[in-house]
Amino acid sequence: MKIHQNVSLADKNTLCLDARAEWYCEVFTVDALLEAAEFALNHKLKVTSLGEGSNIVLAANLAGLVIKNRIPGVTCDAEVVHAAGGENWHRLVRSTVGSGLFGLENLALIPGTVGAAPVQNIGAYGVELSDRFISLKAIHLPTLEQKTFAKAECEFAYRDSLFKKNDEWLITEVSLALSKISECVTTYPGIVAYLKEHRLDISGESIAEAVSHIRAEKLPDPSRVPNVGSFFKNPVLEAERAEAVAKAFPDLVQFDVTGGKKLSAAWLIDQMGLKGYRVGRFVVSDKHALVIINEGGGTQLELFELVRVVKQKVKHTVGIDLEIEPRIYPDGFEIP
Ligand SMILES: Cc1cc2nc3c(=O)[nH]c(=O)nc-3n(C[C@H](O)[C@H](O)[C@H](O)COP(=O)(O)OP(=O)(O)OC[C@H]3O[C@@H](n4cnc5c(N)ncnc54)[C@H](O)[C@@H]3O)c2cc1C
Repeated sequence: MKIHQNVSLADKNTLCLDARAEWYCEVFTVDALLEAAEFALNHKLKVTSLGEGSNIVLAANLAGLVIKNRIPGVTCDAEVVHAAGGENWHRLVRSTVGSGLFGLENLALIPGTVGAAPVQNIGAYGVELSDRFISLKAIHLPTLEQKTFAKAECEFAYRDSLFKKNDEWLITEVSLALSKISECVTTYPGIVAYLKEHRLDISGESIAEAVSHIRAEKLPDPSRVPNVGSFFKNPVLEAERAEAVAKAFPDLVQFDVTGGKKLSAAWLIDQMGLKGYRVGRFVVSDKHALVIINEGGGTQLELFELVRVVKQKVKHTVGIDLEIEPRIYPDGFEIP
């Protein structure tokens, strides 16, 4: 395993932002990961864990050591699947569905690695990772302790977990409980409509196909069009406040959640007339208002200005502070 100095991360994040890592390495085994973590300890370097870079915004250069997890391997023990952290998530979904195991089909085509999936408890179309989760293995970077976390210890919540709050753990393996018996979740009307239109019976494969089709229509493919998916979180308001907003915007798109109402950030941004709005090479997608696209060579300053305009317009018109969904690096960096 080689540790390199002053490495560009432009091709290692799906927004293609150009920032450099002071130190950088890719690890393919747990032993190499331990070696890299020890190097960081000895040189007093902060470690940043990296997967496929599909949920990060590189706002500036990163001090310390960036470790890209590329540890491969999937094993299956009856209906339990153990997948290494460096595996591609969608490839895992395809292989489990292809082997007749149900459970991950609704999570098809989510970009990124298996190791990053628990960090924000990835979810889509009525299913979250935590619904299928048994345990994970992780390494505590400051002490090199190796630990297995049971589900209850992971503090899973909506797009959240212990590992989002505490980045001292690097996840090396995830174990999931799948099923040979169909327990498909078809609550999302688009899935049912797709199956009907294409005369498909309900199966893991047909649902994964429907989900992939719906996603590809709505979201740009980050391997061809640089983006990080939803750039802003859907704001959650107390019911009373949401009602006041709904009075001013009768068509407001909102959903019941515990503690109030979740508003569609995409709808809000669309209402501000910001679809297609651009600053330099960054543009709000005209397909989906939550997605910001780098048309190539976009700079951090252009992105920050675009984000400022979107946030300011929504705040000024609706009084809501939109929060950014992907993790911003370096830690503690505030977009001006
Ligand atoms: C087009 C598009 C659509 C998306 N759709 C969805 C969706 O439907 N649902 C959803 O939930 N998300 C979605 N996302 C977000 C993204 O796919 C997930 O967050 C994914 O899990 C990120 O994986 P990654 O390997 O790219 O992580 P990275 O972007 O590399 O890292 C994300 C965070 O996880 C940490 N991390 C990475 N690997 C590890 C590890 N092994 N151990 C500990 N911490 C680690 C990083 O330090 C960072 O804080 C979408 C993104 C895109 C671009």
